[in-house]
Amino acid sequence: SPSETAPFRFDNSYARLPATFYARLEPTPVAEPWLVKLNRPLAEELGLDIEALERDGAAIFSGNKVPTGAEPLAMAYAGHQFGTFVPQLGDGRAILLGEVIDRNGRRRDIQLKGSGQTPYSRRGDGRAALGPVLREYIVSEAMHAFGVPTTRALAATVTGQPVYREQILPGAVFTRVAASHVRVGTFQFFAARGDTESVRTLADYVIGRHYPELKEDERPYLSLFKAVAARQAALIARWLHIGFIHGVMNTDNMTVSGETIDFGPCAFMDTFDPKKVFSSIDQFGRYAYANQPAIGQWNLARLAETLVPLFDPVADTAVNFANDTLSEYGTIFQSHWLDGMRRKIGLSTAEDGDLELIQSLLTLMHNGNADFTLTFRQLAASAEDEHADTALTDLFDNRTAPSSWLNDWRRRLAREPMEAGARRSAMRAVNPAFIPRNHRVEQAIDAAIRDADFSLFEALLDVTSRPYEDQPEHAAYAEPPQPGEEVLQTFC
Ligand code: AMP
Ligand code: MG
Ligand code: MG
Repeated sequence: SPSETAPFRFDNSYARLPATFYARLEPTPVAEPWLVKLNRPLAEELGLDIEALERDGAAIFSGNKVPTGAEPLAMAYAGHQFGTFVPQLGDGRAILLGEVIDRNGRRRDIQLKGSGQTPYSRRGDGRAALGPVLREYIVSEAMHAFGVPTTRALAATVTGQPVYREQILPGAVFTRVAASHVRVGTFQFFAARGDTESVRTLADYVIGRHYPELKEDERPYLSLFKAVAARQAALIARWLHIGFIHGVMNTDNMTVSGETIDFGPCAFMDTFDPKKVFSSIDQFGRYAYANQPAIGQWNLARLAETLVPLFDPVADTAVNFANDTLSEYGTIFQSHWLDGMRRKIGLSTAEDGDLELIQSLLTLMHNGNADFTLTFRQLAASAEDEHADTALTDLFDNRTAPSSWLNDWRRRLAREPMEAGARRSAMRAVNPAFIPRNHRVEQAIDAAIRDADFSLFEALLDVTSRPYEDQPEHAAYAEPPQPGEEVLQTFC
């Protein structure tokens, strides 16, 4: 019978961990589930039964029907929120259904977010509003299209039930796919309870799942810490390259897999400003664009505190290992960042002075209120043809300001082995034409909330799924907001 379909072939490992790691419970059913979106290519990659999902998707992805083989649970974790430690957070509105092995042999979590209260809900209602669900869908899929490690969007449903925020909003459930949902805060949960054995159990689990090559290392837990730090350094460099501001880099929102997770009040910058913040709750700019690498290091220091007892029996030795790794993180970040910035301005070789060249462009962009995305995309055109310079300089408040920089840049390009056409192509492959601009995201959300019109959501998803292609028919999506369209704040 249809109720016996098994669209997922679950192979669960987290549910095998000790009972202190989670609370088992089922999603809370909703009134009137409706499937807004199913990500078919992702469903195929995961080896799911698409026909069964087309039939039962609304029920499954809203939590009304627990699919065969699922072992639903809410994960326990702690975390530093804006620098303040909270010993118990946990999935307050999310439920892990289980894990599948995808077509590439990779283990992936399937999680419902907004699926009802759990033992970790504190005062929360366990629900999600439609707006943030659509934002997470759009932004996480765009991150994937950019080639940035990220959790994915498998589905979005509306529940037919209101949620009460500052206003009454339609409720929704987001289905998230992740390499895993283990966070820095998961380690902190056990460390805060003095439960070193559970920290070790978790570390062994993470090594087995994400870093199996480290298992035989002389100091596997130190190797784990170094590997997590290296992945975060690479990840945060990628965020900076595309103008992404995560918005809530609390330690519970940092994975150990190296995927971007928890797209709350996140956004992409329009005009370049290193201090840019969108989150309505980030009053002091803790998670501003240019602070993200330093916050990454701060979060990794919190992870180190949980693992130090496993590094070495001699406390001083263990602490030195941790500190060395944290300073290596800075070096690794800087090298990823500089490599990527070199590629953005068309350099395939490294010279002393490149850093200064890049920084002087960023300073010009900041002073000239230049659009981050358009500046680099337009620079690709200028790399092949000086006649394109006008379109570039038009992006700056003072159009004459970039001219001496352009001369310096061309003198540097003259020492490059690459031919101009190839340079332009290489630059276009790293500098997107399209990002999910915040005003477009808000327009898509508004239409969905006000008129149940998902056409803008679909259009934005489509355009940003091919961010490096020119799409002349969608040129308006490449444009920054008009003065009245700018969205200054995002809410989670
Ligand atoms: P976040 O800011 O999304 O990282 O969430 C921080 C913590 O608050 C996590 O433990 C969430 O599960 C919890 N939380 C957020 N929103 C809700 C909600 N509506 N109901 C219950 N818990 C929530
Ligand atoms: Mg979170
Ligand atoms: Mg969130």
